[in-house]
Amino acid sequence: MADTDTIFAMASGAGRAAVAVLRISGPATLGILGRLCRTPPKPRRAALRQLRDGAGELLDQALVLWLPGPGSYTGEDSAELHLHGGSAIVDGIAQALVALGARPAEAGEFTRRAFLNGRMDLLQAEAIADLVAAESSAQRRQALRQLGGALGGVYRRWADRLLRLLAQQETLIDFPDEELPDSVQSAMLGEIGALCREIAAHLHDDRRGERLRDGLVFAIAGPPNVGKSTLINALAGRDVAIVSPEPGTTRDVLEARVMLGGVPVTLLDTAGLRETENAIEAEGVRRARARAEEADLLIIVSDVQMSAPEPAALGRTLRVANKADLGATPCPADLAVSALTGLGMDRLRAMLTDMAAALTQAEGPPPLTRARHRAALIQAADHLRDAEAALLPELRGEDLRAALRALGRITGHVGAEDVLDSVFGQFCIGK
Ligand code: GDP
Repeated sequence: MADTDTIFAMASGAGRAAVAVLRISGPATLGILGRLCRTPPKPRRAALRQLRDGAGELLDQALVLWLPGPGSYTGEDSAELHLHGGSAIVDGIAQALVALGARPAEAGEFTRRAFLNGRMDLLQAEAIADLVAAESSAQRRQALRQLGGALGGVYRRWADRLLRLLAQQETLIDFPDEELPDSVQSAMLGEIGALCREIAAHLHDDRRGERLRDGLVFAIAGPPNVGKSTLINALAGRDVAIVSPEPGTTRDVLEARVMLGGVPVTLLDTAGLRETENAIEAEGVRRARARAEEADLLIIVSDVQMSAPEPAALGRTLRVANKADLGATPCPADLAVSALTGLGMDRLRAMLTDMAAALTQAEGPPPLTRARHRAALIQAADHLRDAEAALLPELRGEDLRAALRALGRITGHVGAEDVLDSVFGQFCIGK
C-alpha cells in the first residue's frame, strides 16, 4: 500500500443525512477534481459544482473544497465534497472515484498520512481518535488538551534533557579516567536522578487520565434481594435489568452506563456471577469477575434490616444500606437510601459523582491517557535507573540512548511500523 495512492472515504457518518462529506487525499486529487467537476474551485474556497462520472452523467450538485498540500489535514493535496447525503449519491461518487484511480481509505489512513507528513505527533493523532470517541465534556477537554500538544510538550522536554545528557556523556568518554572531572560527573548523575523522579511522579497519577478516557467501572456487590438491581435502575434512570425466562441464557451481569459529572461510569452488578457448566457462559462470568476485581469502586449494598453488611473488601468501597423506607438502620454503612422511594438517592448520586471526579481529575500537568504511553515511560524510567547505577560511561551512554528511544516511541519521533499499525488500526475509516 503505497502512500502515493490517492484515497477517499466518507468523513461524515453513515445513513441518510442532509449532507455527506467525502474526503479525498493524495497526488491525483487535483486531476480527479478536474474530471469530476471540470473546473476545480480556487484553493480553500468553497464552490458549488456539478459532479459527473466518466460518461458525463450528473451524479450530484455539491459544495467542493480544493485543499492543496502541504497546508491540508494530511499534508497532501486533498479535497472535500459536501454531497447530498443519500446512499445512491455517495455510491455513485465512490464508483466514479475508483474509476478515476482512487481507492477507499483504510481505517485511520488520513491521520496516519498526517502523522507521516509531520502535521502532528503520535500523541496528537491519538487525541483526534479520543476526541471523536469522547462521550462527555471531561473527556473532550482531556482530548483537546492533548491535541493542543500539552502532553507531547512534557515528553519532548524530557527527551531534550536526555539529549543534552547524552551529549555530555559523549564528551566524558573522551576524558582519560584520571582526568574525569568529578563535578561534571555528579551533576550528570543528579540530572539523571531528577529526570527519573519526574517520570516516576508522572507515572504515579493513579491512572486518572486513562480512567477518564476509558470510563470508570463501579461494581455493585451484596447478597440477593437487598435491592441491587433496583439501585442500578434508579441510578441509570431506566430499566436496565436483562431478564430471560430460560436459566443459563440470562446475561448474568447487569450493567448500565451512566454519566456522573461528565465522567462515564459503568455500573456492574456482579451478584449473578455463578458457577456454570456452559463453556461460553463460564467465559463470560470469568471476564465479568475480572472486571469487577479491577473495578474503580466497590459499592457494597445491604438491607437496613440486616445486622451487618458484607465485610469491606480491599480497595475503594462505599457501603450503602438500602430499603431505608422500611425504618431504622441497625446496619453500619456510609449512607442509607431507598432505591424504591428515592430517599437518600440524591446524596448517593452526589457521593458517586465526587468519587468519579476524584478518580479522574488531575491537577497540574496533563495526565497520562493510554497504557501504551505508560509502558514506554516505565521502560524509560528503568533505563534511567540503570544509567544512574552504570559503572562505565560507555554503558551509561547505552542506557541513556535506550531511555530516549522509549520516550521517542510515545510521540512517534522514533518510529516503529508495529507501533503505527496498532495506533492507527484503532481509528475509524475516514479519519
Ligand atoms: P437484588 O437481588 O439485590 O438485585 O434485589 P432487587 O433489586 O431484585 O430487589 C429485591 C426486592 O427488594 C424487590 O422486590 C424490590 O422491589 C425490593 N426493593 C428494592 N429496593 C427497595 C427499597 O428501597 N425499599 C423497599 N421497601 N423495597 C425495595
